[in-house]
Amino acid sequence: MKFQSTRGLERDVKSAEGIIRGIAKDGGLFVPDSFPNLYEILKKNKGLSYEELAFKIIKEFFTDIDENELREAIDEAYNNRFKPELNKNYLELYHGPTCAFKDAALLFLPQIMKRAKKSLGVNEEIVILTATSGDTGKAALEGFSSVDGFKVVVYYPKNGVSAIQERQMATQEGENVKVFGINGNFDNAQTGVKKIFGDEKLKEELKKNGYILSSANSINIGRLVPQIVYYFYGYFKLIEQGKIKEDEEINVVVPTGNFGNILASYYGKQMGLPINKFICASNENKVLTDFFQTGIYDKRRELILTQSPSMDILVSSNLERLLYEGSGRDGEEIKALMDGLMANGVYEVSSKVREFLKEFYGNFATEEEVHKTIKNVYEKENYLMDTHTAVGKTVWEKYKNETGDDREALIASTASPYKFPVSICNALGIDISNVDDFGVLKELNKATNVDIPRNLKGLDKKEILHNEVWDKDEMLDALLSFLK
Ligand SMILES: *Cc1c(COP(=O)(O)O)cnc(C)c1O
Repeated sequence: MKFQSTRGLERDVKSAEGIIRGIAKDGGLFVPDSFPNLYEILKKNKGLSYEELAFKIIKEFFTDIDENELREAIDEAYNNRFKPELNKNYLELYHGPTCAFKDAALLFLPQIMKRAKKSLGVNEEIVILTATSGDTGKAALEGFSSVDGFKVVVYYPKNGVSAIQERQMATQEGENVKVFGINGNFDNAQTGVKKIFGDEKLKEELKKNGYILSSANSINIGRLVPQIVYYFYGYFKLIEQGKIKEDEEINVVVPTGNFGNILASYYGKQMGLPINKFICASNENKVLTDFFQTGIYDKRRELILTQSPSMDILVSSNLERLLYEGSGRDGEEIKALMDGLMANGVYEVSSKVREFLKEFYGNFATEEEVHKTIKNVYEKENYLMDTHTAVGKTVWEKYKNETGDDREALIASTASPYKFPVSICNALGIDISNVDDFGVLKELNKATNVDIPRNLKGLDKKEILHNEVWDKDEMLDALLSFLK
């Protein structure tokens, strides 16, 4: 399998190269040349372990990586560290070291990058730069910590992540990791990282010093591909639990930020998975809702800080990959759209693309609706969900009300409720006025009896190792201070 850029200027790129470089030379994102129809084969052996399933899917894309090496990478990434669980309609993707779904991809990425490096004979140290709205950062730190031949630098908006998320990052151990708070929001952080990546002179300079920059954000094809796996896994679990019959179409509901997770489900459909609608759920930063309703992508608005901070995003980078498919893989058209976004903050897609987008449904949930959903579902279904998942559930209900389409759905449950415990306590009316951020975990546990994930217990007693804050215009200086 070879990869091509969404902006048309690169073709026939090996997966190892796409994984190492992260982004194409023309600024586009790498996409596979085709999508093998695996569903027909996989449905004949549904009982596979998560690792086996992952191997069968991922090996179709990363064909230039030795199969034994790939197996090893998958085992090192997932064995006893990550597995999804299907609970009612909720595909819980947060049973990993950082308690959010990004573990699925970010445990795997370092392992595949290591092998990609080897297959290309790259000797330089790879510096992973990541802007995070909370979850990516910690997951990247966990994944890359102490992996030979890599450094990780994480930028997060100083006031844009939860106390728990901040503490998770601040306490990260490992000689090769660094965390910077940024005075600015997530978009500022992401723009800053993109700017560093766009600086060819800087890259040359770094290369002379033995460093190559790369990304762990969800635009990396090494992160996107492993995410396809859990939609297959979830679909087969629905069959196993008797909720659907083989080949029955389902809907997929995804609380969406950078559009990586929902895109992975779309790729799943291209591989044969029977999916009817992709329900794209946003919080009050509803750029995508407006986009699916009007065909106009307009980021010219204030970013709102919500209680689902991992979705507080105005530019959903992976949408570019969907538009590429929608345009009939017309790189020039995509380049024009993305140039428009860069220059004016807005673009409008063609009527052909709009037609294509009908497979998607976009809507959003207000903060008040999120609270109500958490409370209702807890009281009626005895199921405790986090704020991001509640955005998904709220939008699913809206979709069903609007369309009457109530077929089975997989709702991506993207974080443990314990990652956003203040919001959950407020939603449930649990009194937390007399406890600190970490006491809140215990209060939530007392009130609900739902176990605190092992990886969040004792976080308050861990030593703070990272506390630097830099201005949003100083992100490069911060990086260079670490690489010195
Ligand atoms: C990252 C994240 C999302 C959004 O996923 P995308 O792939 O960026 O759309 C949703 N929920 C949680 C908890 C996340 O960490």
